Amino acid sequence: MDDKILRKYMSRMCDLNHAAELMQWDLKTKAPKNALDTHAATIATLSTESFKMSVSDEMKGFISAFENDDKLDNILKASLKDLKRTYERSKNIPEKLYKEYITHTTKSEMVWEDAKRNNDFESFRPYLEKTIAFNKEMAAYIDSSKSIYDVLLDNFETGIPSDQINSLFEELKQGIAPLIESISHKERMDDSKFYGHFEKRKQKEFAEYMLNVIGYDLKSGRLDESEHPFTIGRAPYDVRITTRYDEKDIRSSLFCVLHEGGHGIYEQNISPALIKTPLAVGTCMSIHESQSRLYENILCKNINFWEPIYDKVGELFPQFKDISLDTFYRGINIVEPSLIRVDADELTYNMHIILRFELEKALFTGDLQVKDLREAWNEKMKEYLGIEPPTDAQGVLQDCHWAEGSFGYFPSYALGNIYGAQFVTKMEAEVGTLEYLLKEQRLDIIKDWLKNNIHRFGKMKTSTQLIQDVCKTDIDVKPIIDYYKSKYSKLYSM
Ligand code: ZN
Repeated sequence: MDDKILRKYMSRMCDLNHAAELMQWDLKTKAPKNALDTHAATIATLSTESFKMSVSDEMKGFISAFENDDKLDNILKASLKDLKRTYERSKNIPEKLYKEYITHTTKSEMVWEDAKRNNDFESFRPYLEKTIAFNKEMAAYIDSSKSIYDVLLDNFETGIPSDQINSLFEELKQGIAPLIESISHKERMDDSKFYGHFEKRKQKEFAEYMLNVIGYDLKSGRLDESEHPFTIGRAPYDVRITTRYDEKDIRSSLFCVLHEGGHGIYEQNISPALIKTPLAVGTCMSIHESQSRLYENILCKNINFWEPIYDKVGELFPQFKDISLDTFYRGINIVEPSLIRVDADELTYNMHIILRFELEKALFTGDLQVKDLREAWNEKMKEYLGIEPPTDAQGVLQDCHWAEGSFGYFPSYALGNIYGAQFVTKMEAEVGTLEYLLKEQRLDIIKDWLKNNIHRFGKMKTSTQLIQDVCKTDIDVKPIIDYYKSKYSKLYSM
């Protein structure tokens, strides 16, 4: 069989996925409210077409024809491996079930948006129950030999079982809990200047300026507004990001933009040779989050990053003209238990993730029912962070992931924190310290290093392979703990 046929087939699948993603983007950013049903139907049709192709007899034929073909180039070999994995995972899922699931989750997300706005968990509860039931049913079709949650984890992080995540998170918790505890006895740093009125228009201008500084290419992307920030598109030339603006505090949108910008830079630097293959995406969500969290926190919450560009802050927001860079730096690094994950500081952020990981796992083992989810959430918030959400919008309803059916996604964020610190340690050894690179505004060197070592490979390597190749070690929690200890002991004079 000529491999041109396989290339054409993959290209058609990519086109269908691209169209479905653009419809998703439209629904979440621009589409009128009443377009929900028609958009959901179109998205389901496009996704189901692509799904059908991934499990078709033709696909089965490609796999057996090319599997042992040594003449295939490396990209085709890796593509075929990925297609085979998808085929094996999806071949038993009935097409009808898949289509119902996509239609359901597209609507569920929109219902969640309203529920969150109206602080009404009960209106969302039946949708969430149904999403969980769908996921249980599908997981049984994918691999009935594994626990349901482990099957779901594999949608986002291939090959790292929940037991391993459990022990990594235990180590993380042991490392950060004493730091959070010590900081809680320190005087709160002054961030009064961060509250005020910050016009949306100026925040957008600032966001675009910052994206430019970090190296996100607006010619291959765009910045829009949505209820929950996200990155979507077709790498590398159309990678769109979104944010939301809080006119009372610039930090919220600023760090969302830098986070999504990190995701965007990853996708924009995937090798063009992977276009029209299933490999033109980030390898998995934990590596994706390692890049976004790296930009958001390790780079952009570093004082040296701000030194060369700090004047711009005062220029756009005169409130900051009379505050020093040091005060600004402290204001963006305040550690304190808070309700909203995406706005949380670097340290307590991990506790938000561990809480979600434990709850979603319990939802699938049967230890927790959706009707008890809100109470379980609030209890864990008290246990891990010592605070209780006054509303569900600030508690169990805050994130979009469960609404869109993404169970097993949350661990990616904390794994991303762990991997990010491993990558930075290696990068510093190879191209210079962060202090030097940031002070000299050499974000280009950082981007190139990430591109050469991580981004360009797209989905050609798994997360564990990438970490091995780049860092020459296994997953290691120590670098992130060392980073936290060194940064926060200075900031809080401990
Ligand atoms: Zn992210």
